[in-house]
Amino acid sequence: MNIVLMGLPGAGKGTQADKIVEKYAIPHISTGDMFRAAIKDGTELGLQAKSFMDQGALVPDEVTIGIVRERLSQADCEKGFLLDGFPRTVPQAEALDGILESLGRAIEHTINIQVDKDELVARLSGRRICKSCGASYHLIFNPPAVEGKCDKDGGELYTRADDNPETVTNRLEVNMNQAQPLLDFYQAKGVLTNINGQQDINKVFADLDALLQSGRS
Ligand code: AMP
Repeated sequence: MNIVLMGLPGAGKGTQADKIVEKYAIPHISTGDMFRAAIKDGTELGLQAKSFMDQGALVPDEVTIGIVRERLSQADCEKGFLLDGFPRTVPQAEALDGILESLGRAIEHTINIQVDKDELVARLSGRRICKSCGASYHLIFNPPAVEGKCDKDGGELYTRADDNPETVTNRLEVNMNQAQPLLDFYQAKGVLTNINGQQDINKVFADLDALLQSGRS
C-alpha cells in the first residue's frame, strides 16, 4: 500500500494520515515532521531547512528529495508507506517516480484532500500542536478535552511558528501555486483521486478508507 496524500496546508492531511497509518500499519512519512525534528535536534539538515520554513517557503528540492530517498530505502517501507507533504513540486514527483522505480515499487494511490481557501485560513489560524508528541488539534474543529493540553499525553499545546497569520497567507499562496501543476501531473497519469475535505473528520476518513479498500485509485 504505497500512498501519496496531498492537500493544501490545513486540509487535514496530518489528521487523516494518522488514521490511515494506524489502520493499515504503514510508516507515516511527513517531510514537514522530518524537518521539524531535524531543527529540534539541531542537525545540519535542520539548519538548512529552518530559514525556508520560517518564511513559509519550500525547502529546496535537492534537500527534500534526498531525505525522502533515504527514508523510502529503509526496511519498514517495504510493506507500504504514506507520504504526507511530499511531493510538493513536479520535480519532486518525477524524482519520486525514479526513486520508487529503482526500488521496484510504484505509487498505488494519489489522493488530494480538497478544501476552499477561506476555510483553510480559518483552520490554520486555530491550529495547535502538542510539544511532546506532535499531535494536531484545532480550537474550533478538533479541540482537546482539556484546554491547552494534549489528549494523548497531556503535553503542552503550542502554535507552530509557520501558523502565524502573516506566514499563513504566504505559505498558502506558495502552496497553491505549486499544487496545481502537481495535481495536473497526477491527473494526466490518471492516478489522482479527489476527496472532499470539508466534511466531518470521520466522514473524510470513511471516504478515504473506502477508496483504499477498493484497492485502486
Ligand atoms: P508541512 O508540515 O507539510 O506543512 O511543512 C512545513 C514546512 O516544511 C513547509 O512550509 C516547507 O517549508 C517545508 N516542507 C515540507 N515538505 C516539503 C516539501 N515536500 N518540499 C519543500 N518543502 C517542504
